Amino acid sequence: QAKATGRNSIRFYNPALQATMEKRFRMESDLRNAIGGNGFFLVYQNQVDAKGITVGSEALLRWRHPEKGIISPIEFIPVAEDTGLILPLGHWVLKEACLQLRQWQRHEAFREHVISINVSAKQFHQKDFVDQVQKAVDGHEISPDLLKLELTESLVLEDIEDSTCKMQQLRALGIQLSMDDFGTGYSSMAYLSRLPFDEVKIDKSFVQSAGHHHAQRDWIIIEGIIGLAKNLRIRVIAEGVESEAQHAFLVQLGCQYFQGYYFGRPKDAETFAHAS
Ligand code: C2E
Ligand code: MG
Ligand code: MG
Ligand code: MG
Repeated sequence: QAKATGRNSIRFYNPALQATMEKRFRMESDLRNAIGGNGFFLVYQNQVDAKGITVGSEALLRWRHPEKGIISPIEFIPVAEDTGLILPLGHWVLKEACLQLRQWQRHEAFREHVISINVSAKQFHQKDFVDQVQKAVDGHEISPDLLKLELTESLVLEDIEDSTCKMQQLRALGIQLSMDDFGTGYSSMAYLSRLPFDEVKIDKSFVQSAGHHHAQRDWIIIEGIIGLAKNLRIRVIAEGVESEAQHAFLVQLGCQYFQGYYFGRPKDAETFAHAS
């Protein structure tokens, strides 16, 4: 159906599809420009322990678009992944987080502050990914145990051998590993015992079901996750905690760490440091 009329000008006869394609081409070229310039920044959302003390933060990527304003990663990460732009972007996130860790080392209250970053599949499965991480950590002279990488189950399952190998290498360097969005995949429970994770993050879809009619089943799953993780000596953090009631439930079930709007919204580094 498509007729190529020249470079970047494939025409479609389905107007809706054509509009979608054009939007995507546009976003791709905007992304490319943003990576070259300084169109991206990280915001930090605090993670607290049982006493409510901030022990670390998750770095979340934001895109400051010249016309459209701030764009959510939910919109642009998939495009970045499809186009391969996630590689330079992911590398920038890694370096930026290390830079921030370096800066925060100067502040007494932040000496032990751990930053978690999200790693996408393509980025993780690059041949030299472990090397990139080591260089970033060494180059910024930070203690490797202050950096945590969040991986998803689907990333790991894409190539379980490669993943296990890299995870072991990263652990040997002292880097921490967290399994993000836990419980949303098919076989999380089965793999957790075999993979060298330091932490699991209970997905917010479970956490936020409190108060809904099917909630009881979700709470049973959360309790199961917490029990399993504890037996495996893996720490548990709940993401997406929005209310006191959710927090209270999670505490009752034995959850140790928490992240969510109830404890703090993601903030730029400066605001974050002032608020802490
Ligand atoms: P995620 O890693 O599961 O991050 C948690 C998301 O939940 C974040 O959305 C965060 O802002 C949001 N959140 C935190 N607390 C609450 C809460 O109490 N309620 C609700 N409803 N949401 C909460 P955000 O920042 O829009 O990021 C979305 C996703 O984009 C992330 O999900 C992650 O998968 C991806 N992402 C973000 N930054 C990066 C990055 O640097 N690299 C890669 N590869 N992916 C990223
Ligand atoms: Mg995450
Ligand atoms: Mg998550
Ligand atoms: Mg999630």
